[in-house]
Amino acid sequence: MGGRMMPKKVKVYGVPAKGIATLRDLPVPIYSSPSEQFQPLQTIQRDGLYLPFLRRYPDVDGNWIEVTLLDGSKGWMQISDIDDGIQYADIYDPSLAPSFTSLDTAVITIDPGHGGTASGAVAADGFEEKTANLDIALKVMDLLTSQYNIKTIWMTRIYDEDVSLAYRADLGTASGGQLFISIHNNSNGSTSHGTETYYQCGKEQTLDTQQKSYITATAVQMGMLTAIQAAHDAGIYVALPSDRGVKCRLGSGREDYYYVLRNAYIPAILAECVFISNPVEGACLQNEGFRDYLAEGIKDGIIFYLNDLLTP
Ligand SMILES: [Zn+2]
Repeated sequence: MGGRMMPKKVKVYGVPAKGIATLRDLPVPIYSSPSEQFQPLQTIQRDGLYLPFLRRYPDVDGNWIEVTLLDGSKGWMQISDIDDGIQYADIYDPSLAPSFTSLDTAVITIDPGHGGTASGAVAADGFEEKTANLDIALKVMDLLTSQYNIKTIWMTRIYDEDVSLAYRADLGTASGGQLFISIHNNSNGSTSHGTETYYQCGKEQTLDTQQKSYITATAVQMGMLTAIQAAHDAGIYVALPSDRGVKCRLGSGREDYYYVLRNAYIPAILAECVFISNPVEGACLQNEGFRDYLAEGIKDGIIFYLNDLLTP
């Protein structure tokens, strides 16, 4: 064949949609396109997994959604059989959720940083950031549930496992919620110390989202500093709280530097509680009592923000 090459056609399926599929009655086959004509890419065997989707494809043989898998890849699953028969999934559809009119109707995504083979920062004695992040995140979830009866909290992970940044951010976007909060601890040599929180100011986000992100970041930063002072007063935390500020970090194209802040299309923040690489702060972080205080402070910041949203 001579002549010019024809451009390869890429078929883009579906229409924008938003939701989270909670898988049950396994296994659930995942396909490369919204069709059962070919072999599934993979079959999900894991009970209780929830997968965000941002695209839907209505077809003659049923309704399909494009889910983001834990490893960040995407695939299609069929939802047309949701009834008393084959039950692949429950669909959480934000558009059908009760509107946010009281604290208990809030929808929040909590993201414990790193996990699995991604340990995050590591203290001199080997204590890993991922462990502290998960414990604090689970404590925040428990506090929001037990004290404020918040019913819809999506955790990007509840185990020590690898979870892609794409899954984390897409879960936040697909939740359609009021907030995505990523919980981390910092690292930079042994002398750096203190608390900082990042908000969205990148070009991808609307002004409204940026403003809400900034308000939350300020409230959570204040909450953490207050909590660290309280831990100090209680004799748990050796040093005094140190305010490194509420910050925005941009990339070269004026996009948010942190992947989850750039790709979660709801108000999102990233909290760096303390420095795990600092001997004093790192040791405190290994104290469960200190992590309880941190979780209280983060929770207080989230509640301040939600109350602010509810105030006309
Ligand atoms: Zn981290």
